[in-house]
Amino acid sequence: MSHRRKAVVVGAGPVGCLAAIMLSNHGWKVELYEGRPDIRLPSSKAASQQRSINLAISHRGIAAIQSVDPNAAQRFMQSVIPMRGRMIHHVDGRLDSQIYDRDGQCINSIDRTLLNEDLLQEASSSPNIRVFFEHKVQGVDFDKRVMNIRDVSQSCELDVSFDLIIGADGSYSTVRRQMMRVLRMDYQQEYIRHEYIELRMPADRDKEGRLSFALDANHLHIWPRKSFMLIALPNQDYTFTCTLFAPSSELDRLDSPDKFVNWFGTYFQDALLAIGEQNLIKDFTHNPRSPLICTRSNPYHYKDRGIVLGDAAHSMVPFYGQGLNCGLEDVRILNVLLKQEQVSPTKTGNEADDLRLSRALSRYSQERHKDLIAIADLAMANYVEMRHLVTTPLYIIRKAFDNV
Ligand code: FAD
Repeated sequence: MSHRRKAVVVGAGPVGCLAAIMLSNHGWKVELYEGRPDIRLPSSKAASQQRSINLAISHRGIAAIQSVDPNAAQRFMQSVIPMRGRMIHHVDGRLDSQIYDRDGQCINSIDRTLLNEDLLQEASSSPNIRVFFEHKVQGVDFDKRVMNIRDVSQSCELDVSFDLIIGADGSYSTVRRQMMRVLRMDYQQEYIRHEYIELRMPADRDKEGRLSFALDANHLHIWPRKSFMLIALPNQDYTFTCTLFAPSSELDRLDSPDKFVNWFGTYFQDALLAIGEQNLIKDFTHNPRSPLICTRSNPYHYKDRGIVLGDAAHSMVPFYGQGLNCGLEDVRILNVLLKQEQVSPTKTGNEADDLRLSRALSRYSQERHKDLIAIADLAMANYVEMRHLVTTPLYIIRKAFDNV
């Protein structure tokens, strides 16, 4: 007897939503399970913004969305702010604009929640996709093809069957952990010794009440200070989201608002003026100090029935601005492989059909791994570049490398 293949996607972050849309386009029946409440509800907005508020999306991510959902890509491009270069803020107040590309290519600042909401809306409106919120996946039996879920709102548990499970449940992925029990997966996890805090730089307001950006909006702003740095990305409402990256030991020393403001003023004087002392104290006191995790896995799939994508498969430090871009690209690559292997959305019980799916997943693990490792390494290397080398003349960098 034949039936439509059923995929369960765990995690309705940007990667999970795009994966659900991609499988629905193939004709699969899809169920998308998210542990948190619906981010589109006003009551859950604050909680959904605990991680970075905006993101840099590059051609890699845009091409991935475009390949799965051209309409979403078009809408998305209307809400980005192009950043054509980086603006270096030196300690003495000098500014140095370094354009990324002389032919005008740029990266784009986008509101994380807006992007996620848009993809979620698209997924929810597909007749092939059912979305469940406050459904937290707790366990997966890959051999029986059943997962166990806690329905948080009803305080009960249920079992859900699947043909394929996609783990897009972020850095602390339950699906990945469950997969490691049945698969010889190599796995590495590292916390770097730096943390980050987000700070909001408000809009400027003129006498007539008109708003404008406090800094040039078409740059990614960087205050490189060797062992730590501040960056700022523009938002549509004329504010900037600033992120301070510093070693935990440095932040431990700044154990009172006064100490923090003095330290901040010493290294980031122009930013302090634009943020304002009271705002800085408020953010320093209320916003969390968050860790930065880097994970690597290999392989990413199990037989013809499970695969992890996005941060669930590879968390990288954010200094290359490619974590989400890569996660979206994971979906694009899987899409291509499902097409190339001619995986049918209908399960016939024919062994050859199942082999096609396991071949597509296996090719994904083999062909994707080297690229993911390369980009994770580049992300780590770019931290030194951003907080230090951008201020160092080229001949000194060359000399340093000659001496290595
Ligand atoms: P997530 O966004 O983490 O989504 C996972 C979802 O799964 C969540 O909604 C979660 O609630 C849900 N979930 C988790 N467990 C379960 C469960 N058991 N059951 C059901 N649901 C579950 N990337 C860029 O490309 N550009 C940038 O500029 C950039 N800047 C960054 C700045 C910072 C400070 C940080 C920390 C990261 C940055 N990144 C950036 C990386 C980017 O944030 C991630 O790569 C991206 O969010 C990963 O998306 P995802 O959908 O894989 O996972």
